[in-house]
Amino acid sequence: MKFIIGNWKMNGNTTERDDMLTALSKTKTKNKIVLCLPFTLLGCEKFGISIGAQDVSNHDNGAYTGDISATMLKDMGAQYVIVGHSERRLYHNETNELVREKAEHAIKAGIIPIVCVGETAEEKAAGHTTSIIKKMLLESIPENGEYIVAYEPRWAIGSGLTPTESEIVTAVKTVFDTLPAPVPILYGGSVNAENARDIISIPYVDGLLIGGASLKSETFIPIINSID
Ligand code: PEP
Repeated sequence: MKFIIGNWKMNGNTTERDDMLTALSKTKTKNKIVLCLPFTLLGCEKFGISIGAQDVSNHDNGAYTGDISATMLKDMGAQYVIVGHSERRLYHNETNELVREKAEHAIKAGIIPIVCVGETAEEKAAGHTTSIIKKMLLESIPENGEYIVAYEPRWAIGSGLTPTESEIVTAVKTVFDTLPAPVPILYGGSVNAENARDIISIPYVDGLLIGGASLKSETFIPIINSID
């Protein structure tokens, strides 16, 4: 069983969500499908598809205007939450320590965090991919509990560029070797119906995190079908 996890980012409305969940519920697969939605689109378990959020507070509750806690996500049916996505690290200055705190709050509420790590184009060019992955991982993963890691090279997200197979193997093996115990490892970054099958067949890759191509059933369902 592989994970195929969609990340809608800041996109979608209730009609588009319901259309997608209806299409997904009719799609036969042996793999685990999860759709990570904006906060406003949670609360839709009736379709029988696992739902995730894209961020969570590192606080339990209280005077944190605009923030959403892990227990609130749980109450809205979220089973997973992405933490430390590169867009949050970049646009909201999220540090490894904050990401770890978020992951630990999710676990405490019974939600599985998907901890994202990955190098920038500059770090890759400087030959620092392995050391960056190790540092991000060791500082971002929760101390205890169930979690998932997503290796997402920042330069591959939404760019149409993907690493070579050997670059992915090296990166995900680094993740595997660095983790204190095995957890599922996803690859994310410009996955589409043409490359999904090849990428998911790479050793140590237990699933895919898919942004742009998860927004429309015409692009998401063919990915799911291609790797069944
Ligand atoms: C993502 O947002 O996690 C992602 C992988 O995006 P995309 O598939 O669009 O590159």
